[in-house]
Amino acid sequence: MPAQKHFILPRKRGILLLLLNFIIVSSISIFISIKVQEEITYQAWTSFSTETKDVQAALAERLHIYEALLYSGKGLIDSNNATITPEKWHTYVSSLQLSKNYPAVATFGYGFLVKQADKANFVAQMRQELGNNFTITPPGNRPLYAVGTYLEPANPAGEGVDALVDPVRAKSIQDAIATGNITVSNKTTLYIDKVKVPAFVMRTVFYRQKAAVGYITATFRMQDLIQVALQHNFQGIRFAVYEGTSTKNLTTARLFYTNLPSTWQTSGKLSQIVTIPVVSHGWTMVFTDTTTPSLRDVYAPTVILWLGAIFAFLSTFLLYILLVRNRYVESVAEIMTKELSVTVEKLHDDKKKLEEAMTKDEFLSMAAHELRTPLGTMRWRIEDMVSGKRKFTPQTKEDLDKMYSNVIRLIHIVNNLLDVSRINQDKIKDHPDMIDVVTLAETVIDTLGERIEEKRVQVEFAKPTAAIPMKIDQNLLEEIFVNLFTNAIKYNKKGGKIFLRLAATQKELQITVEDTGIGIPKKDQKTIFEKFKRGSNVDPDSYEGTGLGLFVVKKYVEHWKGNITLKSVVNKGTTITVAIPMQRDIK
Ligand code: ATP
Ligand code: MG
Repeated sequence: MPAQKHFILPRKRGILLLLLNFIIVSSISIFISIKVQEEITYQAWTSFSTETKDVQAALAERLHIYEALLYSGKGLIDSNNATITPEKWHTYVSSLQLSKNYPAVATFGYGFLVKQADKANFVAQMRQELGNNFTITPPGNRPLYAVGTYLEPANPAGEGVDALVDPVRAKSIQDAIATGNITVSNKTTLYIDKVKVPAFVMRTVFYRQKAAVGYITATFRMQDLIQVALQHNFQGIRFAVYEGTSTKNLTTARLFYTNLPSTWQTSGKLSQIVTIPVVSHGWTMVFTDTTTPSLRDVYAPTVILWLGAIFAFLSTFLLYILLVRNRYVESVAEIMTKELSVTVEKLHDDKKKLEEAMTKDEFLSMAAHELRTPLGTMRWRIEDMVSGKRKFTPQTKEDLDKMYSNVIRLIHIVNNLLDVSRINQDKIKDHPDMIDVVTLAETVIDTLGERIEEKRVQVEFAKPTAAIPMKIDQNLLEEIFVNLFTNAIKYNKKGGKIFLRLAATQKELQITVEDTGIGIPKKDQKTIFEKFKRGSNVDPDSYEGTGLGLFVVKKYVEHWKGNITLKSVVNKGTTITVAIPMQRDIK
């Protein structure tokens, strides 16, 4: 029996499975690691961009407050029909409590727009109002002067300075005149403790009889504005503010404010560049994240990757062990199967040998047994005669008769044995001669006359009117007659009947022997033609026999390509018909 291999993976498919397991597990861990990294980056970005938006909002809010401050100053001056005195302005600004409420404001003041024609009158009026040697600087004739007149906190250095001389301030004034709105200047500078710091100016004009005659101005130090706006919040975020809305060419000339570390552009941290509206203007802000990520965020993806790799190795190894164990089971199963099949074959051989031995033994014991009994009787009688114990008396004649019938029986047994031996060796002696079958049948009945009488059976032979000539081996055919007839006598009841019928056609000869004996049980009929088989209704002590007669008959009939049929009913009788072809082509 071949080993059942199909439930065990072949080697190639095993390797493929291991590879597949390793690839799948590693891929999954790489995928998870990437996803975790993405999530961490996304979270960091979300919190960073929320912070940058908060910074922008805080700045915008602060600028709105200062816008409102300018509008309130404009309101004051407009309500006084543009006639304002330094005292009034001082009182007003004092009430605002600039340093407390508007801490980023460096100066808050006003000035006048003076045409060249009005210059002399203006200077005279100012000298009177301020009580000093007021003059417009720088000197020189210009079509229009924007003269800073009064500043809070008081700054005499700023009084009389023509803002239109400075291009940055000039533009903011011109924009304010042109739009009538609040304007924010480009980057400019202010001195604080003799140090130049970036600053910008917010302005709005005021009118007399719908003509712009002056302006309110507030200057801011950028650094202060940022401090006030953010109020020490947003510690982790660093940024720079540039003038204008172009995100390119972020030069120092445009730089308003910065607390960025010098390495921010190469540090690989999160960064963002945005532009923000500033009243009439716009600024560009550069943000960068300086917070230190948590250990978990830094190492999680790598740890996942390592764990995944370890798991991939482990699971592949486990799978390998499983497969190898299966292979081991397979080899053990194969060895066992081989051993088993060898054992089965050996057993089969042994059984055959045993059967053969048994058959031989059985055969020998049967032959010995069958031969011993008649020989023993004969020896005992002959011994008596030879020793002179018996005289030739009628008793002697009886003894001789019995001996004779024993000899006949022995001849029958020996013949049967010889027949079987020839049949077994395929050496049936077949020498056909032209004979008369009817005469042969009569001879056989005659020969068995004594036994017929003994059993007191009645033989009915429907003798054919003519002879049945046939070219056939007389001895073999006689064997068939003797065996069938002997059985019909032996297994008959006392006073029973035997019918012998012969029928011959051109094709075949039919011999039918029918009796009214004990019959053959149905269950034995199939095997009754086999060697040594006897009916289960036969007691061997009452019916002597070897179980070879029918075997020999069948073999001879088959040798001639003939046919034998049996009909039998227990206790009613048996009919056996033999059909032998007339033309036989025997080797
Ligand atoms: P032998 O070898 O001496 O003929 P046998 O008569 O026992 O011995 P077979 O002639 O082969 O052997 O017959 C086999 C068996 O078939 C018999 O033992 C018997 O049980 C049964 N048998 C054969 N012929 C008849 C019959 N005419 N009526 C009943 N039983 C029969
Ligand atoms: Mg017989």
